[in-house]
Amino acid sequence: MGEVILKTEGLTKSFGRFKAIDNIDLKFTSGIITSIIGPNGAGKTTAINLLTGALAPDRGKVFFKGKDITTLTPDQRVRHGITRSFQIMNIFPMLTVHQNVELPLFPLLGKNLKWFHDVSRYRDVMEEAEKLLVELSLWDKRDRPAGELSHGDQRALEMGMAIASKPEICFLDEPSSGMNPVERSAILELIKTLAKEGSTTFVIIEHDMDVIFSLSDWIFVMHKGEVLAEGQPDDIRQNKEVVEIYLGEEA
Ligand code: ADP
Ligand code: MG
Repeated sequence: MGEVILKTEGLTKSFGRFKAIDNIDLKFTSGIITSIIGPNGAGKTTAINLLTGALAPDRGKVFFKGKDITTLTPDQRVRHGITRSFQIMNIFPMLTVHQNVELPLFPLLGKNLKWFHDVSRYRDVMEEAEKLLVELSLWDKRDRPAGELSHGDQRALEMGMAIASKPEICFLDEPSSGMNPVERSAILELIKTLAKEGSTTFVIIEHDMDVIFSLSDWIFVMHKGEVLAEGQPDDIRQNKEVVEIYLGEEA
């Protein structure tokens, strides 16, 4: 197993008087797929917002490879190789599929616009983006406005935007939500393949337990802003408290 690449210590976040995240310690190891599960409202998306810099914690810290990154902006974190996809679609519908995949590469330029004058480097990046479109089965649709794609294709594109920059760690917030079963298994296979290729560590946030158990090496279960349990899929599946919160939800 790899190293711990990202971790939190005592992360806490309230919205007004409501504690959405209560003193959580998360750890993400390179080379494995980690998932965060939990019922709606558990705090999964808020946790990702704190990890990727969209929100600042009230207390606690975020470390990336041992470095305290708690106060870095989202763009600065992207430049460190920390990216995400969104639970709610975040593509640009008027731009083409191809343009959407190129967009997330721009923050990597930082202030150093000279980078763009380095034509071969630019071409390398664009070739990677094109390879990705093939992997996502979006190559044939690359010149169409993204808004015209099916929902499943839009979700695939959204994921593509998160991984186009070859991040070190990528958070996928409910990547298969709203997909039909065929699209769902395709996107999950793709995540598996990309994870095996090994350059990106994936963290998947999901509501759907079946998806998670087929994919994860390590699982955090969140409930009411806390980490209720963590462990390997088999242990989590048999964890009484975990079963109860999910059964309670279905009832
Ligand atoms: P999950 O992703 O696990 O479904 P969220 O992290 O989206 O849960 O939300 C956790 C809780 O925090 C929910 O009760 C939600 O209503 C609340 N919440 C999330 N974002 C905000 C916000 N910006 N302002 C107020 N409450 C919020
Ligand atoms: Mg959410």
